[in-house]
Amino acid sequence: MNKLYLYNTLTRQKEEFKPIKKGAVGLYTCGPTVYNYAHIGNLRTYIFEDILKRVLVYNGYKVKHVMNITDVGHLTGDRDMGEDKLEKGAKRENKTVWEIAEFYTQAFRDDMKRLNITEPNIWCKATDYIKEQIELVEILEKKGYAYKISDGIYFDIAKFKNYNQLSHQPTENLLAGARVEKNDEKKNAADFALWKFSTPLTPFVGGVKTAKRQMEWPSPWGIGFPGWAIECSAMSLAELRDQLDIHCGGVDHIDIHHTNEIAQSEAATGKKFFNYWLHGAFLNIAGGKKMAKSEDNFLTLKNAFIKKKIDPLIYRFATLQTHYRKPMEYGEEAMKNAQSGLEHLYNQVRALGQDQGKINKEFAEKFLAAVNDDLNMPKVLAMAQELLKSDLTNKDKLATILDFDKVLGLNLNQAGEPEETSAEVTILARARVKARESKNWTEADRLRREIEKLGYSAEDAKDGQRISKK
Ligand code: AMP
Ligand code: ZN
Repeated sequence: MNKLYLYNTLTRQKEEFKPIKKGAVGLYTCGPTVYNYAHIGNLRTYIFEDILKRVLVYNGYKVKHVMNITDVGHLTGDRDMGEDKLEKGAKRENKTVWEIAEFYTQAFRDDMKRLNITEPNIWCKATDYIKEQIELVEILEKKGYAYKISDGIYFDIAKFKNYNQLSHQPTENLLAGARVEKNDEKKNAADFALWKFSTPLTPFVGGVKTAKRQMEWPSPWGIGFPGWAIECSAMSLAELRDQLDIHCGGVDHIDIHHTNEIAQSEAATGKKFFNYWLHGAFLNIAGGKKMAKSEDNFLTLKNAFIKKKIDPLIYRFATLQTHYRKPMEYGEEAMKNAQSGLEHLYNQVRALGQDQGKINKEFAEKFLAAVNDDLNMPKVLAMAQELLKSDLTNKDKLATILDFDKVLGLNLNQAGEPEETSAEVTILARARVKARESKNWTEADRLRREIEKLGYSAEDAKDGQRISKK
């Protein structure tokens, strides 16, 4: 196995990656809260995690990837206050929470497909693991880490020695940036909810009677719902057990969500939780402001790309131009540059013809060194240009660049599509390749008809699908 170095937030340094089980990796990535579309900032994080997974696979690891779907318990306030985001979404759209969760989960999976983000091996919905979450809270209660107040069961951070191991900051600092509402009953301001009661024992909050929740379950402490962080602890422990290797999310998860996951998991099991914690930097908009759903400054893949008939893979390409640990600024200008960058790359690959030779050893080694140096994708993109401009034969260039594309995920093998193909046709054509791969012939035929409606034909040649203008 080659040496792979990853920046670990726990130790604040690049470390050589060593899995618990030889040749295999357990990877847990915090998934979407499905009350709205993902914004392209969220999607930046999922692309970074996809690159990480592809790099692990490229290195020969068998990856078990688990991603959760948060369909309950994530409240609008940063620290267990406010409304459940799913309940809020249901009210906004006059639907049930289950319909909201179903709809936005599907929308998220569609976005993943459009961005060539590979699906996890296991999807887990928080509402499918209520039993496991209750069991975890019971253990914490038995061990003396949990206490009850009028609106729920809370974790006492003062009982856990290493609460600041991930954030490397005093607890007061963690509270400074968060939207914290005062709760005088909590023992420490940063204590967090493990289980919340549907109807607070004091039924009036600020004089307003709280509405009945759609999602609630019986528990040893009363009817309610799980806290946000407990779901990721329960699901990762249930699904990855003895493979707690890598856990990822965006940098905003460091101070609260992941800090709390670690505290409650290590308190319950008495063992180290995950060994490596990787975090993606933000996508910012207009002068360094974080893109966030709560800020109303967010763009979805649909609005920023699909509706404008811009190929979403341009966004994937754009994110690869900035290292995942550096903040990235979104702007139309930057996207235009990414568009011409990707189009140029497609043209260069198209010009190589169809025949593949051998993967060039020297470039393959340099490529591996770059991806294994904490996923240095900007370097890989520069290297791709070096390769394409080198004096290797076209056949060897093609074989080598397509090997790079196993990690890049830019569909360079489909660069042979006619240049003028519209984004819509490209999306349909890709979906058709996927349908054929999974032998879903009915769907493949339906997609062919859709492609034909747009004035193109889809032929199935020996080496893949050919799209041409009719
Ligand atoms: P959420 O659906 O809010 O739980 O967020 C999903 C993922 O997106 C998490 O890993 C967040 O850390 C991440 N995230 C949120 N906002 C941004 C942003 N502006 N840029 C990059 N990642 C983000
Ligand atoms: Zn999580």
